Amino acid sequence: MRIECIAIGTELLTTRRLDTNSVWLGERLASLGLAFHRKTAVGDSREDLTMLLREALTRSDLIVTTGGLGPTFDDFTKECFAELLGVDLREDVQSREDMLAFYAARQRVPPASNFKQALLPMGAEALRNPVGTAPGVWWQDPPAHPGVRIVMLPGVPREMKRMWEEQVEPRLRALAGAATHTLRMVVAGVPESTLDERTREARQRHGHLDWTILASLTQVELLARGADPAALATARTDFLPVLGEDLVGVGDGNLEDAVLAALKARGETLAVAESVTGGLLASRLTAIPGASEVFLGGATVYSAKAKVALLGLDALRLAQEGTVSEATSRALAEAVRDRLGATWGLGITGNAGPSAEGGAPVGALFIALAGPGGTVAKALTIPGDRLDAQLRGMASALDLLRRATRIG
Ligand code: AMP
Ligand code: MG
Repeated sequence: MRIECIAIGTELLTTRRLDTNSVWLGERLASLGLAFHRKTAVGDSREDLTMLLREALTRSDLIVTTGGLGPTFDDFTKECFAELLGVDLREDVQSREDMLAFYAARQRVPPASNFKQALLPMGAEALRNPVGTAPGVWWQDPPAHPGVRIVMLPGVPREMKRMWEEQVEPRLRALAGAATHTLRMVVAGVPESTLDERTREARQRHGHLDWTILASLTQVELLARGADPAALATARTDFLPVLGEDLVGVGDGNLEDAVLAALKARGETLAVAESVTGGLLASRLTAIPGASEVFLGGATVYSAKAKVALLGLDALRLAQEGTVSEATSRALAEAVRDRLGATWGLGITGNAGPSAEGGAPVGALFIALAGPGGTVAKALTIPGDRLDAQLRGMASALDLLRRATRIG
């Protein structure tokens, strides 16, 4: 099936907004064993959009558009498709009722322009919008294009995602037939190239699966896709000894999920003292529902003053040892663990650049973990820009804790 994505909106052609919809949709398609063969972004111009839609109808079996379904003058995706395919628009009763109900629930009266959103090309079906007012469109076998499917979704990512998951995916699954299954193994603390080498033989043994290695700043994902779940289960068993302690988990979770799950299983708690990461560590952890069971909190102690005032570090020692030093990372971890009475304390300090600071070169980071058995520290050198250093530092700190609290 040739699938094409068209992101509609003038803002997507400028630096004002990134087209994140097509990236998300591409990922969801992959989980169905499908992929885009083409993605395009086009501005809010009837002429450009019509031209693009005409081309798309000649080359694709499934056309997915996002954007241009709203009530304003620059929203005309449905009109362009209808005109191109020579059909009129009709009012969809359910969509009109949904829209009225949406406004009634907010004690508001819909503006006249909003009724336009309930119009659909003849022969197309509405995709209901549970979180907004613009319904989407599912159009199968449009005039003169048998076998073609057109999906029109709103541009608002939250609305687009809900509608895709709840209404488009089930329709596509019915079309796609055999589903593809994915085995996702998350690894941390190992560079992508090392993982590639280390798993080469095992991947060859399971060569009938479709393999991908996806590296990010915080972890590496090893993905296998195949139609047979039993083959994926065998691969999983086979990979456990190959990945060993570097395996963070199998399935949907990430590094932070693994750390929180381990602490929860052990009935332990965590506190963090962050200098260079400025709260990134705490933010990652608290993004996960249920983090409160194990994450007590911490401090963003960016300046020397904060390290002294909030965590009671010794000002003189701090000056002697330097804020970016192993000794300071240890002092941070121990102080925050102590102050919050946590099982574990993580401390992180470093210089994320752009210039050397207090004798510490750019990219020099120190992380320390204080726990029941004492304190361990690790020095890192992270090339790259500020965010790289912060993200990698955050991930290394989590990984240090993960390795210390691994179960089994
Ligand atoms: P629209 O449906 O065209 O009125 O778009 C509604 C909102 O969604 C606007 O704030 C757009 O900037 C945003 N939006 C539209 N298309 C995309 C896209 N492809 N990726 C991310 N945001 C988008
Ligand atoms: Mg728009």
